[in-house]
Amino acid sequence: MVKHTIQIFARVKPTRSKAGLYELDEDDEGQPRLTFTVPRDLADGFINNKKENYKFRFKQVFDQTSKQDDIFQAVSKPVVDNVLSGFNGTIFAYGQTGSGKTFTITGGAERYTDRGIIPRSISYLYEQFEKDTERTYDLHISYLEIYNDSGFDLLDPKHEASKLEDLPKVGLMEDSDQNIHLKNLSVHPASSEEEALNLLFLGDTNRMIAETPMNQASTRSHCIFTIHVTSRETGSATIRRAKLHLVDLAGSERVGKSGVGGTLLTEAKYINLSLHFLEQVIIALSDKSRQHIPYRNSMMTSVLRDSLGGNCMTTMIATCSIEKRNLDESISTCRFAQRVAMIKNDVMVNEELDPKLMIQKLKREIQQLKEELAMATGEQRTDDLTDEDLQRCQEAVEQYLEDTDPDGILSIGADMRKIQTCFRILKKHVLEKPAVTEVIRSPHPEAPPPDTGPYSDAENSKLKDLVQQRDNEINILVNMLKKEKKRASNAESELTNMGKFAVRTSSAADDAPSYNNVAMSRESTGSRSRPNSSRRREEQAKHKILGDMSKGRQEAFEIFRRDYPQKETIEQNKVHLKQHYAEAKSLGEKVNKTRKKINHLKGQIEQHRMQLAMQGLVDPNNPEPDEEEQELRADMEEEKDSYKQSFNRLKTLKTEIEHLQHLLEKSKVKLMKDFEMWWAEQALVSQNAQSAGGSMKSAWRTPTPKQSRKAPPPDLVSPGNSTLSQSSSASSLYQSAAHSLPQQSYHPASHSQPPQVGHHRQKVATQLSSFYSQPPSQPQPPVEKNGYRLPRSAGNEPKAGIPLTGDSKADADIMAFVKARQNILKQANGNR
Ligand code: ADP
Ligand code: MG
Repeated sequence: MVKHTIQIFARVKPTRSKAGLYELDEDDEGQPRLTFTVPRDLADGFINNKKENYKFRFKQVFDQTSKQDDIFQAVSKPVVDNVLSGFNGTIFAYGQTGSGKTFTITGGAERYTDRGIIPRSISYLYEQFEKDTERTYDLHISYLEIYNDSGFDLLDPKHEASKLEDLPKVGLMEDSDQNIHLKNLSVHPASSEEEALNLLFLGDTNRMIAETPMNQASTRSHCIFTIHVTSRETGSATIRRAKLHLVDLAGSERVGKSGVGGTLLTEAKYINLSLHFLEQVIIALSDKSRQHIPYRNSMMTSVLRDSLGGNCMTTMIATCSIEKRNLDESISTCRFAQRVAMIKNDVMVNEELDPKLMIQKLKREIQQLKEELAMATGEQRTDDLTDEDLQRCQEAVEQYLEDTDPDGILSIGADMRKIQTCFRILKKHVLEKPAVTEVIRSPHPEAPPPDTGPYSDAENSKLKDLVQQRDNEINILVNMLKKEKKRASNAESELTNMGKFAVRTSSAADDAPSYNNVAMSRESTGSRSRPNSSRRREEQAKHKILGDMSKGRQEAFEIFRRDYPQKETIEQNKVHLKQHYAEAKSLGEKVNKTRKKINHLKGQIEQHRMQLAMQGLVDPNNPEPDEEEQELRADMEEEKDSYKQSFNRLKTLKTEIEHLQHLLEKSKVKLMKDFEMWWAEQALVSQNAQSAGGSMKSAWRTPTPKQSRKAPPPDLVSPGNSTLSQSSSASSLYQSAAHSLPQQSYHPASHSQPPQVGHHRQKVATQLSSFYSQPPSQPQPPVEKNGYRLPRSAGNEPKAGIPLTGDSKADADIMAFVKARQNILKQANGNR
C-alpha cells in the first residue's frame, strides 16, 4: 500500500476584466502560489477583517491562457497512467457555477480543440491499449448524475427520457465489507474510442434534454463519468481492475455572502447540501484525530468514498473566476482545496486472481482428461441414453448457452449419441428463438376504443385544451409573420433609401427569406454524408423535446432557428465538418491508391526475382538483392511511409469528425430546448392575453387598452424585460428560466427593434392598440378563398377581434380554424 496525498491544481478562467485581483508566483519553497488581492472597497465593510491578501499553494496553477491540452498533460495523464497500472483514479472539478468545471472536465461546446479531460483521457487510454502488446484491455463506462441526493443513470439505453425523473433511478447498496455498490447503474462495454465517445455524448445529451429551467441540473447536480479498465496479461489468470472517476461537481456557490470577509466566508452555507456533506467529509479526513468519517450522509460522498481517503489517486482542480464579484467564491474554492490537499489516501494496485477463470480452466482440463480416458479405455455403452444422461445433456447445453465466454466449450464426452442429443437440443433452441422474439415484436394490436357517442366531459376538456393550444399557436405565428413582413419592408425601405435598387421594388421581398427558403436552405446545408445513426438520434431528441409538431409550430421553429444567436457557431462547425469530410475522402482515396501501389511494387519485385531465377542468375551464395530490386524496395518503403502518414491522419480526422458531429448534435438539442422555452413563454403570454379578455369564448374579442397592458401580445414581452409582463407566477418561472440561460431573451425582431427602455411603455401601448385594431382598420381579406368561408355571422365572436395577418392565404387558414373551433365549442356547450 502506498500513501498518496490528494493533488490540488487551480485553473483561472479567462476573463476580459483587467482588474489585477490575483497574482501567480512561487512561495519560499518554490511551490506555485495563487494570491488574491481584495480591493479596499470590497474589504471595507468588514471591521474584523483587515486582511487583504489571500495566498494559496497548489501543485500547479493554470493561468488564463492555459490550453486544454496543458491541463490534460499535467493533470490527467499521470492519473490515467496510474489507472493503466491498476490504481484507481479520480479527478474532480470544484468551483462556483460558470467558473469552468464542465469546460475542464467535458469540454467546450464549440471547438474540437476545446475537448476536455474526458475525451482526451479516452483517446489516450485507447492509444495505450494499442501500444501494449503484452496485455489485453477491456473498457467499460458508466455515467451517473446525482441531483437532490438521488442518482440517475444517464446511459440507460431503453429510456425515453424527457425529464430527469424519467431516467432510471440509481440506488446505493452496502455489502458486508462496507463496500458501496450502485444498483441500477448500467455499465457499458466500449471496444473502441468511438464507442466510448458515443457513450459520453449520449450521456451529455441526455443530461441536457432532462434539464429543465426549474431543476437547473447542470449547476445543481454532480456528474460522475466512470471508466472501468480491466486488463490481463496474455495467458494469465490475474486480472487488474481500476476505476477512473471524472467528476463535474455542482456549483459551489453559497448563500449568505455579501462580500469578502473572514467571518462571513466561513459562515456562508452551500446552496447544494451534498457539497456541505462533502466538506464535512474533507474536514473529518484532514483531522487525524477523527475516527468517524461521515460518508453516508449523502449519495455523492458515498459514491466517492474510495476517492476520498480510500484506495484512489485523487486529484482536484479548483476552478476560479477572478472577476471582482466572484472573488469571495474563488477564495472559498481555494480554501476548500487547501483542506483537500491534507488528505492522504492509501492506494494499491487492484490485482486479483480471477477465481471464475481458474475454475473454468480446471473444469475444462478435467473434462478433457475424462474424455481422453473414455476414448482410451473404450467404455462400453448400451444403445439408448438413460434419462439421467438426457438430463445431463440438457443441462450441458443450457450451461453452454449461458456461458458468456467465447471460448467456452460444450463438453459431454466422446459419445456420439450424447453429442447428437446435444445437437438436437441446440437445434430446438435455435428454432424456438424467433418465435419468442416474434411474440415480443408484434404485440396484439390494441382493439379500437369503443365508440362512446357524443363527446364526454373528459373529451370536451381535452378538445378545449387543444383549441387553447391552437389559439396560442395562431397568435404566435401571426406575430412572427408580422415581424417577418416588417423586416422585409424595413429592408426594402433601406434599399430604397440607398437609392441603389430603387427600381427593383420587389428586391427586398426576394431577398427576405421566406419560410420555404428557410426550410430549403436547411435542407441544402444538411450534410448528406452524415451517418444515419446521428440523424436518427437527432430525430429522437427532437421528438423527445418538441413532441409531434404541428405545421405552424414547425414553421415557427424554422424561423427561430434562422434567427438563433448561436447559428453562426453551428454553421461554422458545419463548414468545418464539410472540410473534414472532404479531406477524409481525398485521404481515403490516397490511402487506397498507395496500397495499390505497394501491392504493385510487391508484384514487380516477385516478378523480377522469378525472371532472375529462370535465367539462372540468382547467386545462392549472395542473397543480397540486386540493384533493380533495391530500387523497387526503396520505392516501396517510401510508399509505405506515405501510407502510414495518411492512415494516421485519417484516424485522427475520424475522431475529429465524430467530435464535430456530436457538438453539432448537442447544439441542435440546445436550440430545441431554447425554442421550447421561448414557445412556452409566448404561449403563456398569449393565453394571458386571452384570459384578460374574459372566458375562452371571448378569446378573440378586442381587449380594452387596460387589459392589454396587463397582458401584452407575445412579441412585446421579452424575458429580460420582466417589468412588461406583470402577469402570473408562471411567467416569472420563465423569467427565471431565461435568467439561467443567458441567450434565452430571444427576440425574433431584435434586429429591427433595438430595445429602447425610455419609450418602452408608450411604445407598448401604441403597438398594442395597433395590434388589436389592425384587422378592422385594414382592408379585409377576401371573404372566400380556397373554399373557406369566413364565419361572419356564424357565431357570437366578431371577426374584428381575430388577429389576422393581411396575407390572404394565411388569413383564410386562420378563419377556417376559427370556424372549426366554434363548431367544437358549440358541440361542447350543446353537450352539457
Ligand atoms: P461550470 O461548469 O463551472 O458552471 P462552464 O464550464 O460551463 O462552467 O463554463 C462557463 C462558460 O465559460 C462556458 O461558456 C465555457 O465555455 C466558458 N469557459 C470556461 N472555462 C473556459 C476556458 N478555460 N476557456 C474558454 N472558455 C471557458
Ligand atoms: Mg457545469
